[in-house]
Amino acid sequence: MTDSVLGPGAVTIDGKAIAASVRARVRLGADAYLAQHGRKPGLAVVLVGEDPASQVYVRNKDRAAIDAGFDVRTVRLDAAVGQARLLAEVLALNADRGVHGILVQLPLPDGYDAAAVVRAVDPTKDVDGLHPANVAALWSGEPGLVPCTPAGCIELLDRAGVALDGASAVVVGRSALVGKPMAALLLGRNATVTIAHSRTRNLPDLCRGADVLVAAVGRAEMVRGDWIRPGAAVIDVGINRTAEGQLVGDVAFAEAVHRAGCITPVPGGVGPMTIAMLLSNTLFAAQRAAGAAHDRPTH
Ligand code: NDP
Repeated sequence: MTDSVLGPGAVTIDGKAIAASVRARVRLGADAYLAQHGRKPGLAVVLVGEDPASQVYVRNKDRAAIDAGFDVRTVRLDAAVGQARLLAEVLALNADRGVHGILVQLPLPDGYDAAAVVRAVDPTKDVDGLHPANVAALWSGEPGLVPCTPAGCIELLDRAGVALDGASAVVVGRSALVGKPMAALLLGRNATVTIAHSRTRNLPDLCRGADVLVAAVGRAEMVRGDWIRPGAAVIDVGINRTAEGQLVGDVAFAEAVHRAGCITPVPGGVGPMTIAMLLSNTLFAAQRAAGAAHDRPTH
């Protein structure tokens, strides 16, 4: 958490700084892994097609993984290769002992069955935490790989010193990528969790009851300042571009900052944590594969 007080009692949670410290911790773990096993943790990133946003994400992930001391393999496939070839690539990576983490960049181009691809990834290498075996592990409190963005949100809450045990938490959004795993993680930390979505009635009132409010909707500044309980912890997962080209979250930051106890900005809040947790998951997968004492991700 930074010291920058922006409103009465509101403190911005500095995702960039927290992500940097997670990445430094992962780097130490990767160096120790190399010293112990004679090779680096390995991450394979599979990119199908030419989607410009996906290309940028993959480039950023590659760079971060190299900086963290990992071996990185990027598998670039033409959008036309088809499902069978993509599945064959995934199975080859599953069998490759130098690869500890596999990430298939989503969304896939039209015509691919993304769910089948996710199911094809070896669950012990599924560093996106999307395989049904990892989803089941998360909901049943078993160790497993957890989706990176919600894992990053928990890290931010912990670093900000937010008490989750017994807290009333509202997660707005129920996607498999963010909302649902976020709710499971909060429940695992003994918060009392409500999941809201597009059919929820009286959303502002519901949010006003939250000690911890997580917005993962994808609607620019939908959550207004007067939806926020004074002193609440607000985690804004949303990334939206306004008509003017400005990047904003799902929370109206300038209003919310006057009510929240702590709040993540957009950009510079949750965003940097996603890659940091991907690295943390990959290190965990490598250590687990080696049967080593692992740095379990902290959620
Ligand atoms: P999805 O579109 O998959 O899910 C959005 C969720 O919001 C749905 O559950 C939907 O409800 C709900 N919703 C939509 N409109 C409303 C409304 N008016 N009131 C209440 N709930 C509503 O998005 P994701 O979960 O993948 O992503 C959410 C946001 O987070 C996006 O802006 C995305 O860009 C961002 N994101 C950021 C990441 C990061 O690294 N910071 C990583 C991943 C995502 P219903 O289910 O009923 O349709």
